[in-house]
Formats: sequence, C-alpha cells, structure tokens
Amino acid sequence: MSHNCDDALERMYLYIDGELTTESAEAIKVHINDCPPCFDAFHFEERLKIVVRTRLQEEVPSELMIRLKSIIRSETLPD
Ligand SMILES: [Zn+2]
Repeated sequence: MSHNCDDALERMYLYIDGELTTESAEAIKVHINDCPPCFDAFHFEERLKIVVRTRLQEEVPSELMIRLKSIIRSETLPD
C-alpha cells in the first residue's frame, strides 16, 4: 500500500474547492483518514478556507441582504 502524501496534499486544495470528481474525492478522503499528517493539514486548510469565505461574505454590502430579508419577511407574514 503506497501513501502518496504529495499527491494527496496537491489534490487537497481541489477537494476543498469541490473541484474533484466523486472518485478522486473519495480517494483523498481515504488517504486523509489514514494519514495523520495529511489529516491535520487538511483540517487546517479547510478551516482557513472557511475563515476566508466568512470574511468575504462579511465584506458583501448588506443592503442586498436587508432587502432580501424584508421581501422574505413580507411574504411569510401570517395573516
Ligand atoms: Zn499523507
């Protein structure tokens, strides 16, 4: 059984971005769960990605969100 960590780390970014096929994603998942260093690296990258995404969302002007919320609210108001 060969553990190709370089390959796993390289594909990890694609996996996090959701750019891998189901088959490749499964192979990465198997490796990550079986390889502590890759497991740690994966979770670090994944968390980093979530932080970056959250930051980006926060920078989106809230005007649109407020407008959408008021539309949703007015449509879901009980009679
Ligand atoms: Zn590994």
